[in-house]
Amino acid sequence: MAFERIMCTFATPAILLRRSAYGDYDLIVTLLTLCNGKLTAIAKNAKKSRKRFAGVLEPFSLLNVSCSDTRSRGMMVLQEACLENPCAGIRGDVMKTSYASYWAEMVNIWLEEGREQPRIYYLLRDCLQLLESGAIGNEALSIIFHLRFLSFSGLSPNLSRCSECQMETDHITAPRFFFELAKGGILCEGCSAKSPTRVSLAKGTVKQLLWIQSNDWQTAGRLKFNPAALNEGLRFLEKFVVFHLGKEPKSLIFLQDLRLAAQ
Ligand SMILES: [Zn+2]
Repeated sequence: MAFERIMCTFATPAILLRRSAYGDYDLIVTLLTLCNGKLTAIAKNAKKSRKRFAGVLEPFSLLNVSCSDTRSRGMMVLQEACLENPCAGIRGDVMKTSYASYWAEMVNIWLEEGREQPRIYYLLRDCLQLLESGAIGNEALSIIFHLRFLSFSGLSPNLSRCSECQMETDHITAPRFFFELAKGGILCEGCSAKSPTRVSLAKGTVKQLLWIQSNDWQTAGRLKFNPAALNEGLRFLEKFVVFHLGKEPKSLIFLQDLRLAAQ
């Protein structure tokens, strides 16, 4: 009696983080799924067959997918993908595309495969939809994305008190603080020492970041940001992420160049 291997298929909402060609016919896609975390799957004949995945497997598309764990070349097989929201408004705007690419790359580098991360799935989904709608400005939205992402990853920057002597931020009188990347928190004047990993921040920037950290993001999205604090806060968070990743995502270098050119 022959035993057939039972194919296990599962369906889940998913966001397309990355895709690359595999040979002449196939695509390899990296997905952030709601039910199974990050996963890599092969979409067979996706390049050849126009019917099967036509216009669906585009970057930042919100999808419903079904995958089977019958491994092909060590990867799961993408059986079906239906479009939930193409987020086409992002891909039509170079600045929005750059922000979305950076968030997707951050998620892709940071997360391990197969570990369920529903809060990060919903965060990325909501941020992509808000980016497309333009309801919150790109820079403010990116600050919100960073702070939530870092919090869910257990790496919230400590902005409320000095990392050494525990003096509360409100009681520090200097107009500028140092944030020590290696310690993950701010240092008061007395505790700060020269270090290559310290970043200077205005008190107003720290207060604005604290406010966003402690409010729900619908409220934070309505905050009228001070442009200088917005700028400084975003650059600081990007440095913080690069420090923890141990490398600079390619899409971040592109985004920073694009912002410079737009000034
Ligand atoms: Zn101190």
